Amino acid sequence: MRIRCGRDTLPALHQRRIVIAGGGTAGWMTAAALGRLAAPHWQVTLVESEEIGTVGVGEATIPMVRLFNQMLGIDEAQFLRETHGTWKLGIAFEGWGGFDERYIHGFGLTGRSLGVLPFHHYWLRGRAEGMAGPLGDYVLNAVACEADKFAHIERPQGSALPPMPYAYHFDASLYAAFLRRYAEGCGVRRVEGRIVGFDRDPQNGDLAALRLDRGDVVEGDLFVDCSGFRSLLLGQEMGVDYVDWSQWLQCDRAVAVPCTRAEPLVPYTRSIAQPAGWCWRIPLQHRTGNGHVFCSDLMSEDEATARLIARLDGEQLAEPRTIRFKAGRRERFWERNVVAVGLSSGFIEPLESTSIHLIQTAISRLIDFLPNGPVQDADRDGYNRLATFEIERIRDFVILHYVANGRHGEPFWDGLRSMVGAGEVPAGLAQRLAMFRASGRIVREHDELFDVPGWVQVMIGQGIMPERWHPMADQVSPESLSAFLETVRSAYAKDVARMPSHAEYVAHVCGKVTANA
Ligand SMILES: Cc1cc2nc3c(=O)[nH]c(=O)nc-3n(C[C@H](O)[C@H](O)[C@H](O)COP(=O)(O)OP(=O)(O)OC[C@H]3O[C@@H](n4cnc5c(N)ncnc54)[C@H](O)[C@@H]3O)c2cc1C
Repeated sequence: MRIRCGRDTLPALHQRRIVIAGGGTAGWMTAAALGRLAAPHWQVTLVESEEIGTVGVGEATIPMVRLFNQMLGIDEAQFLRETHGTWKLGIAFEGWGGFDERYIHGFGLTGRSLGVLPFHHYWLRGRAEGMAGPLGDYVLNAVACEADKFAHIERPQGSALPPMPYAYHFDASLYAAFLRRYAEGCGVRRVEGRIVGFDRDPQNGDLAALRLDRGDVVEGDLFVDCSGFRSLLLGQEMGVDYVDWSQWLQCDRAVAVPCTRAEPLVPYTRSIAQPAGWCWRIPLQHRTGNGHVFCSDLMSEDEATARLIARLDGEQLAEPRTIRFKAGRRERFWERNVVAVGLSSGFIEPLESTSIHLIQTAISRLIDFLPNGPVQDADRDGYNRLATFEIERIRDFVILHYVANGRHGEPFWDGLRSMVGAGEVPAGLAQRLAMFRASGRIVREHDELFDVPGWVQVMIGQGIMPERWHPMADQVSPESLSAFLETVRSAYAKDVARMPSHAEYVAHVCGKVTANA
């Protein structure tokens, strides 16, 4: 069945050709977006090889993914039914701030601002004076996570209560199949075959065509490399080097295995620290996705697999699969007429579920920079500068979880923690850590992905308590501060008490799902 694309069909003037190499999540997201927005002026062709397959993981997202689906005009209920998806309100970090510690990084705001100050300054004073509970009591999404609740919240205009932003968990292979039907419905052409060679334009060195194993030649004007870790076009053919971040992000392998669905159906991803890495748990309607991300210098694959399997919440459904990776990025994301999207452009482990988001922003940047004629150096440089800024800020946020850990006595974690004192963390992160410790301040840089509430929840969750707070938080009387904190806490608790359980809500919207399909 094809999915209705819904775009206006205008007659093509001078049709140009975009060729997408690879049909994983990156390839089909790119094809769907270009099919929706750039066709028919651009003829979009996707080449993929069933024989090679996809990475087959990537099931937890962050709220911006909703904008992508909305841009495509996708109905949420249909999308969740077809991908066996669930809602996601945040991530639970277990054992990161200390062996028995747990906190939730919930999407959305912490508390409520009072005047010009971010909430956490009032909370810091309240905590020091014994009148505030854990920070999570003041984060609506975290309160709902703890209660396993979910609902779409409509707030009346001017409501003092915040919205409850959410994302999704979904089955990666079903999502790619869903987008494929959508893209083909928009006129995207799919070519099956293995890319075995390339033709270059003899005049300017641009890529001119892909050569396939059965002899087909797929010509194009612009090429999008979605070939995964192989980075066939940008890395191999164009020779763009890889910038290695493994001195900070030391995990280099993951073993993944699905199991039967666990109860309760939680509305969050779980990230459980391990002696040399961490495990994920992603709740879907029909199964739970599990994985163990680890550092192979410190733990063998057999041990990592055994630890993962021993801790499954349900019956194992398939053989474990190991994926090797190296954290980092391509030196340039766009070279000549080749743009890399997805794993071919770089990789940061899925601790904050950011890879699919990076695909989405790469696509929207590509659409912003779509060339009108030959690719201009200035456009390409602008694209590369923005993409570098974005991924490096995300990298620093992910590194924060490691270097601010509270797991004493394990070589992996002790080594990472000592990097801060040794001046070995990226300069921007070191400065952020120092400023937060000293004064409780977080300054969001330009339009970086993670905002003040995100940084604050992770810093405090991992055990970093600032020495001071903003002086204006001292301007309210202790009675007023206590009343304010209690108003926020109880409003969120009441709000959540009225919501149905996540499992009830999923069943209501999606109907009954065949278990463990
Ligand atoms: C362990 C792990 C867990 C992850 N978890 C998350 C998560 O929870 N959330 C998140 O946002 N992201 C996550 N990611 C990242 C996410 O999986 C990827 O960003 C996403 O799947 C996109 O992958 P891709 O399409 O770039 O590559 P792939 O899925 O590898 O697709 C590559 C495509 O290129 C094709 N191809 C390759 N070579 C050739 C050739 N020679 N000829 C023809 N075709 C070829 C393949 O057949 C395939 O279609 C995770 C990644 C890993 C490694």
